[in-house]
Amino acid sequence: MMKIGILSEQNDQRVAVVPLVAKKLQDLGADIILESNAGLQAGFSDDKYEGAKVANRKDVLEDADLVISIQPLEDEELKTIKNGALTIAEYKPFFDKDVSDRLKRLGVQAISMDMIPRTTLAQSMDVLSSMASIAGYKAVLSAALKLPRYFPMMITAAGSIKPAKVLILGAGVAGLQAIATAKRLGAQVEAFDTRSAAKQEVESLGARFVEVAGAKEDTGAGGYAVEQDEDFIRRQREEVQKRAMNADVIITTAQVRGRKAPILVPTSTVEAMKPGSVIVDLAASTGGNCELTQDRQTIQHKVIWIIGDSDLASAMPEDASTLYANNLLNFLKLIIKEGELNLDFENEIVSSACITQ
Ligand code: NAD
Repeated sequence: MMKIGILSEQNDQRVAVVPLVAKKLQDLGADIILESNAGLQAGFSDDKYEGAKVANRKDVLEDADLVISIQPLEDEELKTIKNGALTIAEYKPFFDKDVSDRLKRLGVQAISMDMIPRTTLAQSMDVLSSMASIAGYKAVLSAALKLPRYFPMMITAAGSIKPAKVLILGAGVAGLQAIATAKRLGAQVEAFDTRSAAKQEVESLGARFVEVAGAKEDTGAGGYAVEQDEDFIRRQREEVQKRAMNADVIITTAQVRGRKAPILVPTSTVEAMKPGSVIVDLAASTGGNCELTQDRQTIQHKVIWIIGDSDLASAMPEDASTLYANNLLNFLKLIIKEGELNLDFENEIVSSACITQ
């Protein structure tokens, strides 16, 4: 019988497989080996994984036919996994350019969950969207906690408070969720994106779409944004600066796949903001949209908070793990047939996700 190993994450509170999904994998004909306490930080103790064998990390790595984690495995660990075993994690080949070659050299087969195409057919397996949505929601909450002002309008006996103004740069999955969350908290929201398709989505959430003419788009980029020229970025920065002066919060999510994130909020724009304002930079891990962002750190620059948190999904580990595990299960149903691994490379989802073909 095929053995599926579930590892605990290093520096991440999530777990890739939650008990309910582990049960469904058993129903598909697999045995589960769980690294002890793998789900604990996400709220799932070992005893919730009914029927799973609990083992130490070394045994899971050596024993499993399919080794599942969210964070990539280190080379040293990859060397210890069973011959012919498959690892599934987020190997991010767009950023770690030689990861596929490294894995191939080590003789390991790998699926990278972040390489699943962003198509309608694969929507139920799209971990990038599930995690980005959580990040967008949490970004607004982080900003609200730091902001020395209210989000909603308040009319009280002690006086009236105007609603907060929130500017969102990049209206993809995270940006749209940030818009919805900020609106629910009563803020006035403006948003910007280079993809014209985003305009309608922004407006349908009740936010104002900021127009900057002349953005480059590429229909062949799989729905992703493309890099803009210097002239466009300059005009965009001017528009952002105008709006930043009135904004209480800026949430930036603008990313271009495989490239450094564009700087949309230079230091001069930060310095033009009102004291106490907050910037949450969700593009922090790819260099940040704000010039002053430091990845995984919250800093203050001249009384402006800059939260460079690229790890917000992990800050909501229970639901993040549940959604991640559901996405994973939908993918595993494609590659597990009658209790055995069966990778059909004719299937576009499988061939895109397998980075060691
Ligand atoms: P992302 O994280 O790569 O980027 C976030 C947003 O930043 C994007 O909307 C992008 O257009 C925008 N951006 C990039 N450069 C910018 C700039 N200079 N100024 C302003 N905005 C800029 O994007 P994502 O959230 O992962 O979504 C990528 C695309 O995939 C979107 O078109 C989304 O609708 C699509 N998508 C499709 C599916 C599906 O059909 N299954 C699922 C998820 C996402």
